[in-house]
Amino acid sequence: MTKKGLLIVLSGPSGVGKGTIRKKLFKDKSLNLAFSISMTTRNPRKKEQNGIDYFFVTEEEFKSRLEKDDFLEHVYFVGNYYGTSKEYVEKLRNEGKNVFLEIEVEGAKQIMDKCQNENLVSIFLMPPSLTELERRIRGRKSESEEIIQERLQKARREINLKSNYQYVVYNKDLYKATEEIKEIIKNRMNS
Ligand code: 5GP
Repeated sequence: MTKKGLLIVLSGPSGVGKGTIRKKLFKDKSLNLAFSISMTTRNPRKKEQNGIDYFFVTEEEFKSRLEKDDFLEHVYFVGNYYGTSKEYVEKLRNEGKNVFLEIEVEGAKQIMDKCQNENLVSIFLMPPSLTELERRIRGRKSESEEIIQERLQKARREINLKSNYQYVVYNKDLYKATEEIKEIIKNRMNS
């Protein structure tokens, strides 16, 4: 019988580098990862593709799925809905894949409460400093000042919740942070 895959949750304030680290992790095939593509009502950013980065849907569609209880977790974050498909995650885990969720803290908390007996690996990625985080968020040049301020405020609140996670990794150096996360996953795969 195939061993059910891990449920890996990576959180951290927006701009901390979760996406970059995720892409590096996925290059290591020995980790046997599958990305949980979230559904969101947010508009795509430049270079983002539907069905790869997110499933971009209307608010109507999102709410209809919410009513059908399709989400393992969901959240309203800075003006938009985001959610993880229950069915998609279960299917991949049953195929033996280690499913990787890149989600914010409220959704992660819902999963920690619901999946206590599951093989859950929760990791919080910390920025080197808030100044550096602000520089990265501004560097995207895709959002208004108001949204940037909201994201920064949310970042401060998120950082306060890092102790809910099993592991806290500092992203001072991209290579080191990626290697640290690889080690965590490999250890948990073998335990
Ligand atoms: P962004 O708009 O920058 O892509 O995402 C905003 C935040 O929402 C990020 O912290 C991202 O990790 C998180 N996020 C993305 N998808 C989901 C999801 O399905 N559920 C939850 N709870 N958060 C998500």
